[in-house]
Formats: sequence, C-alpha cells, structure tokens
Amino acid sequence: MRVLVTGAAGFLGSHLVDKFLALGYDVLGMDNHITGSPANLEHLSSHPRFRFANQDVTRYIEVEGPLDGVLHFASPASPVDYLELPIQTLKVGALGTHKALGLALAKQARLLLASTSEVYGDPLVHPQPESYWGNVNPVGPRGVYDEAKRFAEALTMAYHRYHDLDTRIVRIFNTYGPRMRPNDGRVVSNFIVQALRGEPLTIYGDGSQTRSFCYVDDLIEGIVRLFERGTPEPTNLGNPHEFTVRQLADRVVQLTGSKSEIVQRPLPTDDPRVRQPDISYARRTLDWEPTVRLEEGLRRTIEYFRGVVARERAAAT
Ligand code: UDP
Repeated sequence: MRVLVTGAAGFLGSHLVDKFLALGYDVLGMDNHITGSPANLEHLSSHPRFRFANQDVTRYIEVEGPLDGVLHFASPASPVDYLELPIQTLKVGALGTHKALGLALAKQARLLLASTSEVYGDPLVHPQPESYWGNVNPVGPRGVYDEAKRFAEALTMAYHRYHDLDTRIVRIFNTYGPRMRPNDGRVVSNFIVQALRGEPLTIYGDGSQTRSFCYVDDLIEGIVRLFERGTPEPTNLGNPHEFTVRQLADRVVQLTGSKSEIVQRPLPTDDPRVRQPDISYARRTLDWEPTVRLEEGLRRTIEYFRGVVARERAAAT
C-alpha cells in the first residue's frame, strides 16, 4: 500500500507520514515548505519506504507508480499564516484540492481531505455537529481559509458523487503537540514559547473565548481510522473538552513554572467566540475518542518546546 501526503513537512503532515510508515505503508511526502519545515522529516532521510518531492500542489501533480491513497494536508493553517498568505491559502484549498482529486481519480486511490472546524465560522450552534452549515464571513480576513476549505469539501463531494471516487473529509478542530512551529502564531505554541522565554503571554481579547484542544497523537489515530474504515461524510475530529483561552494561559504558566505575566491584546477580526466538536459521529463510526488529557498533552508539548528554545538560545550565543 502506498500513500501520498501533501503538506508532509507540516505539523500534521509529518506526524501522518510517521504513522503511515509505522503501519507498513510506503509513503510519498510532498511539500513546498511555504509553512512546512524540512526539519520535521529529517529523521526519515534514509527510511527505505519514504520518498519526498519538493512540489507546489497547486500545479499539476505528477506521481509515478501506483497510489492507494492521497491525504491532502497542504495548506497554511494558522490564522497568522493565512492572513500573510491569503492567495496561497485560497489556491491550495481550491486548485491544490482539484489537483489532488484529479491524481486520486487517475490512480483510483482513496482521497482524504483535511478540512477544518473553520467551516463552522463563528458558530451559532454549540457544540458543532457535522450537520451544522456554519456562520462564515466570506469576505473577512479568515474567509480565505474558511471558504477555500468549504470549496474543497464541495469539490471532494462532487468527485465522490460524479466520479464515484472513494473520499473522506475530516473536519479538524484545534490540535497541538510537538512540531508546531514556535512562531506559528497559534495559541498553544504562542503561550508555551512565551512562557519558556519569560515573555508575557498574549491573550487576545478578554480570554473568555473558548477552544477545545486535541493532542496530536489522538487526532492522527482518528485520521487513520477515518482513512481506513470511515465514510465519505464529513467527520469531526477533535477533543470535546472545552477551555477558555484564559484558562489555557493559566495552565501553561503553572505547568512551565514560568514567571511570565499575562497581558491582553486586541481580539482578531471574526475570531470565533466558542468552539467545541460534537464527535458523536466519529465515536459511532470509528469507535474513536481522544484519550490524552490537556495537562498530559501540554506536558509533552512543553518538553518539545524546551528543546527548541534551548537550541535557539545556544544559536544566539
Ligand atoms: N489567541 C490568544 N493569544 C495568542 C494566540 C491566539 O489569545 O497569542 C487566541 C485567538 O484569538 C483565538 C484562540 O486563541 O481566540 C485560538 O487561536 P488559534 O490561533 O490557536 O486558532 P483558531 O482556533 O483561532 O483557529
């Protein structure tokens, strides 16, 4: 069995590559390193079942030999990234998904699309089941990501219905863990890196907005189950345990033993007020639910970032 992972050098892409290799698959990774990092795949440079191609997936994707699966994970995914890369974000969600679907069709491979809880926008239904159509501002700054992913879902369903392609759509809720970029801009990596550097933790707004944080290993397990035995219906994957951003900041300060203060910064435009996945569908169809509690996941992530921050310090001296 051989799969292609687009966005292979990214946070989730690189963990997926590791997982599929561990399951015995041959893996081809693809990335153009706009937001992905070669360091995330360095440990695989001499792996006999791993190959890497430096390629922009918004252009025609050429892959020699058979493929059984395409996992389309290429995209800027942090709000900071997609504000800086609005056109690339739209292109990889739209054109990149089209190319990935075309390749899957040509190879008669199963395609799994990485979608997002952002398709629900600033949700008016809470928690969010897959049946909720969302509350997205198409022309706001986050629209470039939200609408690209909504288009990607529509295109994936069209290939499924019209071409009978075997497809999967995972709607990924906030996920954290080792290999997030220290300057990624997302809340978990920001808070941990700020705490370890002794800088103030930046809460946007009053910190009463909520998110539900899933540890990366749980998410990857869910994605593999969805790929291997899921259905074409969009499937939420995430941890339903919901926290305010302020609670997260307090927890990070406590777990790092940091002396950092907590400061407030302006709330970004269209920042969702609440977010919590309804994972009943994944529970029922995949027999899946997250097992890593926030405290344990944060400990593992803090350990990873301690190494990153220590290397930064050594390089600076
Ligand atoms: N956030 C924050 N401080 C930061 C980074 C993010 O308070 O340094 C907030 C952000 O405004 C949002 C939440 O944390 O309400 C989660 O942000 P993130 O960028 O991780 O992802 P999102 O869930 O918004 O896609």
